[in-house]
Amino acid sequence: MSDDRPPFLRTLARGALLRCPVCGRARVFRTPFRVRHHCPACLALFQREEGFFVGAIMINVVTTEAAVMLAAGFGLLLFAVREALLLPLLFTVALLFPVAFYHHSWSLWLAGDHLFEGLPRRGSR
Ligand SMILES: [Zn+2]
Repeated sequence: MSDDRPPFLRTLARGALLRCPVCGRARVFRTPFRVRHHCPACLALFQREEGFFVGAIMINVVTTEAAVMLAAGFGLLLFAVREALLLPLLFTVALLFPVAFYHHSWSLWLAGDHLFEGLPRRGSR
């Protein structure tokens, strides 16, 4: 099966699907909340230096804030939710969204890093 998408879209799609951004043949996560050290198919290194995944946390925080703002906007404008109901709704979104988006923030951060500088291979240092 050929993939005719531009390379950057292919890489982002792999990130969105939690697949290796380099080859797309393996999953980024070994267990539900544990990132693989490297891709077993192409040896691209996922576990980088200390602090590398601060960007993934930043993506998760910014996306969570956007989700909270969207929930507030929909709640107030479309459904006219009362404030007494809106605050618990927003609190729930702020608690659950980052957990639900955790994997994608890491995978998309890896894909973005691969787009900008390419992931190193295991043992290439
Ligand atoms: Zn790979």
